[in-house]
Amino acid sequence: MRTQRQVVDYSLQRRSVLRDVRNGQISALEVCDASPYLKNAATFHGEPTDERCPICRVDNLTLVHYVYGDELKNSAGQAHKAAELPVLAMTLRECQVFVVEVCRSCSWNHLIERYVLGRDALGEDESPMQWKTGSVSQAGEARR
Ligand SMILES: [Zn+2]
Repeated sequence: MRTQRQVVDYSLQRRSVLRDVRNGQISALEVCDASPYLKNAATFHGEPTDERCPICRVDNLTLVHYVYGDELKNSAGQAHKAAELPVLAMTLRECQVFVVEVCRSCSWNHLIERYVLGRDALGEDESPMQWKTGSVSQAGEARR
């Protein structure tokens, strides 16, 4: 997506949690604690993937996109289908997207990525001055 920025990748943390589970330092019960809300979000708004759950290997992982931002008012923090994200990106000036992977069988869940979406990123084309004084933080490793 063109307005995606400030991407923070959590795959290192995920890998270290999975390693601890395999070593027996963390019990699978501790990490397989998806709430009923998260599992519902996965069922109704989730994006299926081809990746097997690293814990139970029974089900494929589902990605849930949670969107936060002042402009969303009451709907801030709700899960959105991936197909809705480009629309939000063009309607809102700025919002935070948190991508969580969930296994609907064993309740494994982990934050995998967060990033900022929104029209503010398009300021670059329209008004270079505004872009320079805009909110470009170096919060994360920018990729894509
Ligand atoms: Zn699982």
